[in-house]
Order: sequence, then structure tokens, then C-alpha cells
Amino acid sequence: MTNRFSRSLASLGLALLLSGAVLGEPSQSGLDLSNLDRSTPASQDFFQYSNGGWLKANPIPADKPRWGTFNQLYENNQSLLQAILIQAAAHAEDENSRKIGDFYSSGMEAPSQAAGLELLKAETQSLAQASTPAQLQSWVTGLHQRGLHPYFSFGSAQDAKDSSQVIGQLNQGGLGLPDCEYYTRSDEKSVKIRAQYLEFIAAVFQRWGEKPEVAAKKAQQAFDLESQLAKSSMTLVEQRDPEASYHPVTPSELAQQAPQWDWDSYFKTLGAPAMGRVNLSSPKFFTGLAQVLKDTPLEAQQSYLQWQLLRNSADYLSEDWSVLSFGFYGKTLTGALEISPRWRRVVKVIDSNMGDALGEKYVAQHFPPAAKAKVDDMVVRLRKSLSKTLDGLEWMSAATKEQAQAKLASFRAKIGYPERWRDYSALKIDRKNYLANVWNSEAFEVKRDLAKIGKPQDRNEWYMSPPTVNAYYDPQNNEIVFPAGILQPPFFSLSADDAVNYGALGVVIGHEITHGFDDQGAQFDAKGNLRNWWGQQDLDKFKGLAKAIEDQFSGYQVADGLHINGKLVVGESIADLGGLKLAMQAYADSQVGKPAQVLDGFTPDQRFFLAYARIWAMNLRPEYERLQVNTDPHPHPRFRVNGPLSNLEEFQKSFAIPAESPMVRKQRNRVW
Ligand SMILES: [Zn+2]
Repeated sequence: MTNRFSRSLASLGLALLLSGAVLGEPSQSGLDLSNLDRSTPASQDFFQYSNGGWLKANPIPADKPRWGTFNQLYENNQSLLQAILIQAAAHAEDENSRKIGDFYSSGMEAPSQAAGLELLKAETQSLAQASTPAQLQSWVTGLHQRGLHPYFSFGSAQDAKDSSQVIGQLNQGGLGLPDCEYYTRSDEKSVKIRAQYLEFIAAVFQRWGEKPEVAAKKAQQAFDLESQLAKSSMTLVEQRDPEASYHPVTPSELAQQAPQWDWDSYFKTLGAPAMGRVNLSSPKFFTGLAQVLKDTPLEAQQSYLQWQLLRNSADYLSEDWSVLSFGFYGKTLTGALEISPRWRRVVKVIDSNMGDALGEKYVAQHFPPAAKAKVDDMVVRLRKSLSKTLDGLEWMSAATKEQAQAKLASFRAKIGYPERWRDYSALKIDRKNYLANVWNSEAFEVKRDLAKIGKPQDRNEWYMSPPTVNAYYDPQNNEIVFPAGILQPPFFSLSADDAVNYGALGVVIGHEITHGFDDQGAQFDAKGNLRNWWGQQDLDKFKGLAKAIEDQFSGYQVADGLHINGKLVVGESIADLGGLKLAMQAYADSQVGKPAQVLDGFTPDQRFFLAYARIWAMNLRPEYERLQVNTDPHPHPRFRVNGPLSNLEEFQKSFAIPAESPMVRKQRNRVW
């Protein structure tokens, strides 16, 4: 929610979900040998060999669509956060504690959940009274001020071609299905999902109190309007091209390209500063939107808007509303069988809305300074490793290498938590109304976000909260960021063997660094500006190497008829392969002069690859696999392991894998 949609961060891609298991007991090396499936040869399917034991012992909990070592870490972390919140609710030691404690209580206590209905009733009434396009627009603007985004969204964005400046940006949006292609795919499963979605919308209207025939009519109107918006939307693959999303326009150009909307009044009411130009990230969408606004009767627009209001609020009302919403967004789309415990959902909401207040307490209790020092050292080694790799690249000219080195030299790394914590003193939190708290914190964030427009970019800002179990590369800040949440097992442990730390967290660091040089990141220069710094021949060669990775992944089938979309996952797959290469090199450098010890029956190189595979140990429900293939730029975990490893000679050697094996590609791909 909020402004996060307007940034294109290349994350590691995890941490959506949750349950309560403990990570395997470490052995000598930090690996858990019971994870292995020794009946599958490493040469056949390394994912299965290294994780088969884990996969068997860890079936997916009923409330989860997928279950991996990653999710275990996420769940453990959530328990730590819950303890902080319960403590804060019982005894507030300062104003931030009072706020997060009250926020938590409001999400957990039935009267505070039910209180949101009154807010919704008032909103619905004023929507029904809006009888002109101008009144409707003003109602929509009110929702945008609270972080709900029917039709489209607006927020701050770093100027892609001048990364030192923040501009305003209009983004496509307004859909209730995960992505625009859900409205247009014609295969049997997609058609069925659309039918279920329509039924779900009608069920929500009925729950709101409409008669069945009225609910059905409104549902159809809402669905039809969304389908129209979907037709003009850019696909996920189209959005991967940063040039395609850069169209700064003046106010008069905006009025021309996107008529039917009073932009002056919209920006003013919203509270945006005066702007000389705005980035229209998807011009065809806004042209389409204008047509929809022109062609759709007011009454049908009201049905759509009411649906968007209810859909976005359902999770902050009483539990029966959450269960209703889960029936489609959880069960149908992800395959989860049960809704997760309420407290986990509430913790997630607070982490996403008051992440710094919660994160400050989390870091004080759970992030030791020694961990930061060790990770700092690993980052230094990984950077050196890329510098060396660039020097040795055969396919790149000296001139382009110099540019690449300059980019690497200006990389920043942020580790653990921000230098400055966000000030929440202007945010009102009331123990008696959960929905009001969510809206208030969204409004607080929208205001904070809009205030950035027209000012220089703040390079110290973080786009993930400290407890987050994830990491990212931001091409416009040219920085890699590792929140404290990911600096724990199975990624990292102060007591684990170096081979294991480098095979897991080392690869993650390398992965994020490589994002600066994947098919998207490579289009940004050392300052974070979208500018071509490549020699033409080098660029052609780079594109050819990237295309080979794309083709490799397009060749993988996840289930019957469900193929990985190589164009969608190519950036992440370049980063996985590059991350492995860089971490292998950094690990080797860190071991100079140290004896290569066999631990737990494995050589250091073998432990490195086993540790890598372990971070992707994961069971997935078929529904979730489909959702992932359709919407996630990260490949399915099995192929995140077997895909890059089958390209690596070092991997083949370390496990003495014969040349004619499935885990060895005849044509090895390599970019970095
Ligand atoms: Zn990534």
C-alpha cells in the first residue's frame, strides 16, 4: 500500500506469509543433515537431494499457500513482534509504544473491529449522494488521501532521469484481481477464477446488506468496469522496461492525454504541492481511464467504487469479514485452506504502517552489533568480488568496464536499520477503532509521501521495515539494503561455518549487487539515472546473454501446461546466477590461508551449495504455483536452485557430477 507501489525495487521476493515452527537444529557446520534426501542423486535434481527430507517433514500448514525455511523465519519473527506489541499494549513506556500497543489492541478486540462499520456506512452514504462527476471525483480523492486507490494512484517517485529529484507520478491501478492479465486470459482455469471473483463480489455486497439481485447487478457493474481498466493496463512484463514507464507531462499535456478528470482540483484537494510536470507512468492506461469515465453511467461507477471501498476495508473489520475476504483472496487464489490466526494479520498491518516504531524496539532486542559487523565484512568482500569479476570479463570492452566499475564504486549498502527513525508524533491512534487506525496511518503516510514531491531525494530513506525478512536493490539510489530481519538463520548465523554463511547470505548479498547489473538495473548509471552507459557492442552482447537466461527459464514447466515466463523472471534469474558466482569468489578469498575442513561429511564447496539450496526449501500449493508463475518475477524455488546451479562448473565439480546429468547444462549460461 501507500507509496511503495511507485518504486521498482528488485527484492529477493519472499516473506508474505506465516505459522509456528522452529528451524532445524544446527550441526557442526550449521546445516541440518535431516533436510537431505540421499535417495535422490545430487546429479539428478539437486533441489530434491538437498531439501527432500525437509520437504517431507514440513507439510504446508492449513493456513498457508506455501511453506519454506523462509516462511519459518518469518513466522518466528512475527512471534517476536507480537511479544513486543503485547508488552506495549499492557505497559507503554513511551508514546510510540502506546501507539503500537493501542493499534494492536484495536485489531484484536471485537468492539474496536466492529467500530469500523460506522465509518464505512458514512462513506457509502456520501458515495450514494454523489450525483455528478465532480462529486464522484471528490469522493474518490478522499479515498486516495487514505491510501485506497480506486481507478489509479498518485504518489511521489524519484525522477528516473534525475535521481536527485523527487517528482509526482500517476500509476495505473484500480483492479481487484492480482494483475490485468487475469481479466483477459482465456484458459479454463482463468475463466473459472473470473467466475469465482464475480460471485465473491456479489457475496460481499450481500454481506453489506444488499438483496441478492441488487448484489448481483452491482457485482457485474464493478467487474465490467475493472475489466475495462484491465484492457488499458500495462502488463507486468511491459512494466519491467523503465523507459516505457517514463513520460513526464506538464499539467496541460496531462489534461489533454487524460481528460474527464479535473487534475488541478484533484492535486489541490489531495494536498500535493504545485508541480511543473508529473510522470504519467502508463499513458495508455490514463487514456483508457478517460474513456471508461466517459462511457460508464454514474450508477455503475458507484457500484465499482463501493466495491473498492468494501474490498479494501474487509480485513480491518470483524473476523467474519476477514473470513469472507479470505474465501477468495486466500482460498481461491493461493489454495490456503484456513485463514491464519488474527494476531498474525494484525502484526503484519502494524509492521507495514508503523514499521519504524515497531522496528526500533525489535532491533534493540534482537539484532546484536556483532551480527552487523560480520555482515559489513561480507558486503565488502562481495563488492570486491564483483570488481574482480568485471576486470576479468571477456565479453565487455575496457570503456564499458570502466563505467561498470564506477557504478559499483558508488554502490551504497544499508544494513540492519535506518540511521534515523520516522517521527510518528502527528499520527493519531485510537484503541477503540481498528479501521480508523489503518486509515489514519495510511493518511499519515500519504501526507509524508506527497511532501517529498519537488524536493531532493532523501538517500537515507528505507523502503522496507527493519524486521522484514527480505532485501532489495534500488536502482535509483544505487544501493543494496538488508533489514535486520533477514540477518538470521537460515541466511546467517554468527555461529555457522563460513561456507554456510556465504552460500546463503553471501549469495543474497551477491544477488542484490547483481541487480544493479541485471536487464533492468543495467539501464541505470552510477548516479541512479536512467541513462545508457554501455558501448553498443557490449550492450548487444549483454542482451544476448540475458536472452539465453530468459530462454533457459521459459523452458521450465512447473505443472501441466504451466510454464515459467522467462521474460518476467529474467532479472531475478540473472541476479541468482550472478549472486552465486560472486559469493563463491568472495568465500574463496575469505578462506585464503585457512585449511579446507570437511564438516558433517561435506567439503566447504559442497556445504556452500547445500546452504544455498536450503534457503529455497519450500512446498507450494498448486493454486499458489499458478499465482506465482503469473505474477511473481522470482522463479519457482525448484528452478531457483536447479536453474543457476546447472550453469556452474564449480557446482558440477564439487559434487563430482557426470557431464550427461540433468544438473549439468550442455550450454552453460553466464552473464556476470
Ligand atoms: Zn532479486
